[in-house]
Order: sequence, then C-alpha cells, then structure tokens
Amino acid sequence: MPSFNNPADRWAWIEVDLNAIRKNTRAFKSLLAPGVQMMCAVKADAYGHGAVECTKVMHSAGADQFAVATVKEGVELRKAGIEWPILMLNECPFEALDTLLEYDIIPAVYDTEFALAYGERAVAANKVGKYHLAIDTGMSRIGVMPQDVLEFRHSIEFHRGIECAGTFTHFATADVIGDWDFKQQSKRFMDSVGRLRDAGYEVGLVHCDNTPGTVLHPELHNDMCRVGIGLYGLQPSETTAPRIALTPAMSVRARVMRVATPGVGEGVGYGMTYRIPRPNTQIATVPIGYADGLARSLSNNMDVIVNGARTRQVGRICMDQFMFAVDPNMRAYRQTEKVKVGDLVTVMGRDGDEEITADEIARRRDTINYEVTCNFGSMRLDRVFV
Ligand SMILES: *Cc1c(COP(=O)(O)O)cnc(C)c1O
Repeated sequence: MPSFNNPADRWAWIEVDLNAIRKNTRAFKSLLAPGVQMMCAVKADAYGHGAVECTKVMHSAGADQFAVATVKEGVELRKAGIEWPILMLNECPFEALDTLLEYDIIPAVYDTEFALAYGERAVAANKVGKYHLAIDTGMSRIGVMPQDVLEFRHSIEFHRGIECAGTFTHFATADVIGDWDFKQQSKRFMDSVGRLRDAGYEVGLVHCDNTPGTVLHPELHNDMCRVGIGLYGLQPSETTAPRIALTPAMSVRARVMRVATPGVGEGVGYGMTYRIPRPNTQIATVPIGYADGLARSLSNNMDVIVNGARTRQVGRICMDQFMFAVDPNMRAYRQTEKVKVGDLVTVMGRDGDEEITADEIARRRDTINYEVTCNFGSMRLDRVFV
C-alpha cells in the first residue's frame, strides 16, 4: 500500500513501489527458458527509479546481470556493494579504462583502438578485461558492421589482456509486429554469430532482445535477454500490452502548499495564460516544476488527482511550482471538494479510482514513457521507496 509519506523537508516526491519492480521482474523471468539469463537495464538510475535499490530487488527476483550506460553508473552500483555482472552498453573515454577494470565493469566494444587500449590497461593491472562485442545490424548507433566482425575479432584476438564474454546487437523496431527491418536485423545478427562461431571464435553470451523483443520474439532470447522499461511496469509499445501484465512502479506526489481564490479575470502564472473564469475558483499551488522533470510543455495541458478526483492544471508550469484550478463548475471533471493546504496531489500514479499514467503524460507532451520517468527521476525530486 502506498504510504503517501512526504520526505521531511519537501512536499514533493517520487514514490517507487519496489514490490511492483519485483513482480515485473518475475513476470519477465518467467518468459525465459531455464538457463536463459536475464540482464536488467538499470541505466539512467534505473530509468529514474533508483538503480541501487532496483538492482537489489531485481536480483532477488531472478535477474542475473545488469546494464548501465556510463562508467559512473557502474561505479555507483559497485560502491553500493552490488557484485553481479555489470555491462556498460557502450565504450567510454580511454582515460576511464582503469576505472572499468578496477570496478569490474564490462564494456561493450566495437572499436579496435579501444579494445587494444583496454587490453593494455588490463595487462598493466594484471587482469583480463572482459568485453561484449557490439554488432551494428541496422540501427546505425554503435557496433561493428556485420561484414567486418570476423576481421574485427581477428585484429584484436592476439591480445592476452582481453576476453570476449558476450556478443550482442540492439533492435530498432522490435515492437513492430512482422517488421521487415527487424527480420533483417535479426538475420544479420544470427548470421554474424554463426560466422564467428564457424571461424572458431568464442562469442560468450549471445543476446539481442530488449523488452519488446523479449515479449514478442522468444525465438531470439538466445543466452540472455536485456530487459529495461518493462521492469518498471511500463509497456514499450501497444503491441506488448496484450502479452504481459505489468505494474507501474513510479508515482509522483506532492502536497498543496498554498490555496487562493482570486477574483474573476485575475491571471495565473507567467504570461497569465489562464484567467479566473468564475467566482469561487480555487487556485492551488504545488511545489513541483520543470526543474523536477515536469515538462513545461505540459502547461495548461495536464491533469492532477486531488482528493480522488481529476482536476485541471492551469497557467504555465514554473521552475519550482505549478498551479491547478478547482472550479466547482468545470464540466469535464467530477466535482472536486474544496482543496486545502497539505492535500495530497498525484501528478503521476493512482489515487483512489483515478490514475494518471506515464503514457498519458508522454502523450500530452509528445514523447515516450521512458523519457517521462527518466525526467522525474533524474532531476530534483527525492525518492521514497514503498
Ligand atoms: C536501454 C537498452 C535496453 C533496454 O531497452 P528497453 O526498451 O527498455 O527494454 C537494451 N539494450 C540496450 C543496448 C539498451 O541501450
């Protein structure tokens, strides 16, 4: 049950439901055949949910490995005592190679110079640096081109400081059912892996499925799946929703910090883009702004839940606050009782029968649910785990 408990010093917070994370992790684990490993993407502070806490819960629910995007993200997990394998999903500046080795963070590799420099640093540290070979099968982001994989492996294979622990690619359209580009990418990937194996190279763990791939393409689970957004209870696409039930883990809550009843015609917020239409319209102020990840483009274009009912946000969203109106005659909304200072406001999440999803917010601000949770989670709001 949500606690609705604000941090001691602020009437605005993110609530992360670790039980939801556990349930979602188990739901994905149960899709995998025995022996197929599960790598959880906990990059960007676990999509804003708190990487250290999420990693521990995911591991207890069956996850085997973890994926980060930056050296710092990997180091943070290690410093918190996380001992399970951590893959960094790209390369990093050469200056950080010693840090990778010190903290046992495995980089993705696709550049010969990077691979050899990594090997040099590993030899100097009396270690063998594991890597996962990234293959660019069509997304044009990172990776060795399929036609170059044999030559690439050949050019670094002599080095005793490095060892291939995995081979992977990333799909651009895994959520589109029957997609030609997806088929092309998966064929290029499996062909590349086959050629590496035929040539006698150790390919390590073979992996390519992200969240939608894991749900929609079990034939490509290979040795490991890399699951991200689904663990946080969000669907990557409408195509996966009928196939797996998930529970959103992040809510964004606040308390009303001030209530006023301005006269008819008075303005609200910068630019006064909203004016009081009727007598007895309450304007409530909430201490969350765009510096907390509430995009300014949501101004006059979002709802909040207060006292169990939806009501309309009005005026421009400020850096540190936004306002909402409680208008007894607002037709689109159920009657909301009068608000008072301290009332609970749900910006994202469920309160009673009402729910505002990350998908709703994403739609209103023309982005995807991934960006919504990353924004809330990476800026200024404290997290409360329930
Ligand atoms: C982020 C990421 C994932 C996870 O993607 P989801 O769509 O969140 O499942 C998997 N693999 C790579 C390479 C990624 O960058």
